[in-house]
Amino acid sequence: MMILFSTVRCFTANLTGHRPVRYEIILRDWDLLKAYIVNIMTQNMLRKRIAIDLGTANTLVWVAGEGLIANEPTVVAISAEDSKVIAVGEEAKLMLGRTPEALIASRPMREGVIADYQVTEAMLRYFIGKVVGRFQLFRPDVMICVPAGCTQVERRAALDATLAAGAAHAYLIDEPLAAAIGAGIPVSAPSGHMIVDIGGGSSEAAVISLGGVVVHKSVRVAGNKIDEAIQDYLKKKHNLIVGDQTAEEIKIKIGSATKVAKEEKIEISGRDLVFGLPRSIVILSKEVTVAIQGTLMQIIGVVKGVLEDTPPELAADIIDKGIVMSGGTSTLKNFDRLLTEETGVPAHVAEDALLCVVRGTGIVMENIELWKRSVMTRR
Ligand code: ADP
Ligand code: MG
Repeated sequence: MMILFSTVRCFTANLTGHRPVRYEIILRDWDLLKAYIVNIMTQNMLRKRIAIDLGTANTLVWVAGEGLIANEPTVVAISAEDSKVIAVGEEAKLMLGRTPEALIASRPMREGVIADYQVTEAMLRYFIGKVVGRFQLFRPDVMICVPAGCTQVERRAALDATLAAGAAHAYLIDEPLAAAIGAGIPVSAPSGHMIVDIGGGSSEAAVISLGGVVVHKSVRVAGNKIDEAIQDYLKKKHNLIVGDQTAEEIKIKIGSATKVAKEEKIEISGRDLVFGLPRSIVILSKEVTVAIQGTLMQIIGVVKGVLEDTPPELAADIIDKGIVMSGGTSTLKNFDRLLTEETGVPAHVAEDALLCVVRGTGIVMENIELWKRSVMTRR
């Protein structure tokens, strides 16, 4: 635009015969243009691009050109008096259920979306600060991923929280698309791929083709609900109350989606429901398998729902290529086997299942021009 302007002025100056004025104008405009280009280039070079997987259970941070720089539980401890952030991540998780009155340790994300806006913003500010340092020259561009099934209000809340936390530009990407890119699936090809991301708060199944989500379904049931199912089972069968972290430990250590050939066991402690006193018991993996079956079937129901709604051409591609699983809960022992048995489509867990979403978001952030159509943005 500026060049065009200079040319027009230059042409008029030629007609009127005022040569010195013409050069002066060109020089002044050219300097302006140069300053403008240099400004944009330095800003873009110095402006960091950050990708954040804001999960219910874990928050992962990826910096373009650098890679993964943080992987912490999504837990924040704030002081009750002035809402100052006291601890974030691992340190805050240790405080969960153990805080005095002056401290509140909480999980700001629930079922895949922001449940506590202010705490989420404080946490984002903490992670962004960790990347850019204290004396930032330019505010960074930040991309957050959200479940494909989240509402417009939830999307706006995520964008607003990111901007309020110090981003110059905020971008959003659908989690299944990010997970597929991070799992190394060629999402831009005219061929259907199915990805199932099973995290802590929500499970999402989606069919992706030509760089976009074609069909998706989600359910707010995932790892946390599996832990609750184990807690319910222990309460009903063994009259024992155990905490969230114990239930998660049982699931990770001896849990299996299908019957295992070699039975495993674990000794756990909790509080007796009748006498109110601490007690220990030993539980077997086959008990866990029974306890979590109903919850696993709810997750598998979502995958079946997507398969039913998939257009026939894409369904044929999926049968050829199989289902790719990502997210922490997909690493539950034998979950891929159960999904294969229930759907009749071969399923396998992606490499580094817990990192797929953040890696995919990072890849999109590094090549934002290519992916403009797939992201939502605000500045
Ligand atoms: P989110 O994206 O919601 O933060 P993640 O993808 O980080 O969730 O996965 C976290 C969930 O994965 C937790 O519920 C955790 O208990 C579960 N998880 C992690 N490792 C395992 C494992 N080996 N077996 C079963 N569940 C697991
Ligand atoms: Mg996740």
